[in-house]
Amino acid sequence: MTDFTATRAMFDLPEGIVYLDGNSLGPLPRGVAARVARTITDEWGQMLITGWNRAGWMALPTQLGNRLGRLIGAEPGSVTLGDTLSIKVYQALAAGLDLRPDRRVILSDTGNFPSDLYMAEGLCRSLGQGYALKTVAPEALESALDETVAVLMVTEVDYRTGRKHDMARLIARAHDLGALVVWDLAHSAGAIPVDVTGLDADFAVGCSYKYLNSGPGGPAFIYVAPRLADRVRPALSGWLGHEAPFAFDLDYRPGAGIERMRVGTPPILQLAALDAALDVWEGVDMQDIRAQSLTLQEIFIAQIDAACPDLTLASPRDAAARGSQVSFRHPQGYAIIQALIAEGVIGDFRAPDILRFGFTPLYLSEGDVEKAAAILCEIMATGRWDKPEFHRRAAVT
Ligand SMILES: *Cc1c(COP(=O)(O)O)cnc(C)c1O
Repeated sequence: MTDFTATRAMFDLPEGIVYLDGNSLGPLPRGVAARVARTITDEWGQMLITGWNRAGWMALPTQLGNRLGRLIGAEPGSVTLGDTLSIKVYQALAAGLDLRPDRRVILSDTGNFPSDLYMAEGLCRSLGQGYALKTVAPEALESALDETVAVLMVTEVDYRTGRKHDMARLIARAHDLGALVVWDLAHSAGAIPVDVTGLDADFAVGCSYKYLNSGPGGPAFIYVAPRLADRVRPALSGWLGHEAPFAFDLDYRPGAGIERMRVGTPPILQLAALDAALDVWEGVDMQDIRAQSLTLQEIFIAQIDAACPDLTLASPRDAAARGSQVSFRHPQGYAIIQALIAEGVIGDFRAPDILRFGFTPLYLSEGDVEKAAAILCEIMATGRWDKPEFHRRAAVT
């Protein structure tokens, strides 16, 4: 059994705050500051450029890919880190299209995160030749799959509603029809059990700064199935994905396996933060995370249902169809979230009317969730959210 009291002690959360936004930016694990400080002073400061060899910086992306890989069921040597998720989506899509040169369609759904859709659109425009992104409603994804689809691009958990796709079904159906799958784990990695090997995934991508707590701007990851890794052509053929970066050849030759999905210089300070953040996951069982996340979600939903009639559940009622977040709708969602934050409960707002709450058993207790629900219901009952300062929009919601 995972010891959640122990994992909670590994986070540095501000006193009095209930943090329900770890699905957007994970909080600071205690070990991160010291680890990053050591990398700065002992490695960068003392070793200077020799740190690339002496401190093992150059190997970090794939070394940490292996640590992270355990949480998504990936075999060692099949995950690497770097860049942002949007870039990793582009790489995976381009590689997938290249493996099905006789087909022209990327299929996705309207519940996907816009950046994934934008990257797909941009890629299709660059390729020309009739390449196109087709989007359908999330419920229609499976039936829209056909033999014109080269790549199915699915974000497993909807960033607004928390609705979770049945990836086993979608991957099996896509493979039956000869399509490849790009599985976006942005709201899955560290949130729910994932088994890229067991489900025979082709490509998976995700970010480390959400449920994996690597800090703002932390690097993204990409998984390529070992059966494909030596066959894929990297669209972003940067020097660190080259077979021999320091040969400085004038021609590109892809590196072995997952190494070819590296692009440029790795972000060493962010990788150091991720390394320390991954320490928290030692001894954590994803099945325990799932069970406790659902317990927390059910507590929250039951309390809101009972005392906040004005909030409408936007997430599926069926727990099995949810990821690790719960959302409600209200036309004044923005102001309500601002009022909530002012009282120490941090959730977030997604246009046009979604109040979003992430559930992260690593550092959230049942008591925290009960307290957050009680404060939210009181804000609703008293109308305390309806003050001018709570209606003022900031750049980031
Ligand atoms: C959070 C998120 C992103 C963010 O992409 P970045 O390039 O890291 O800013 C992209 N796609 C999905 C599905 C996300 O949830």
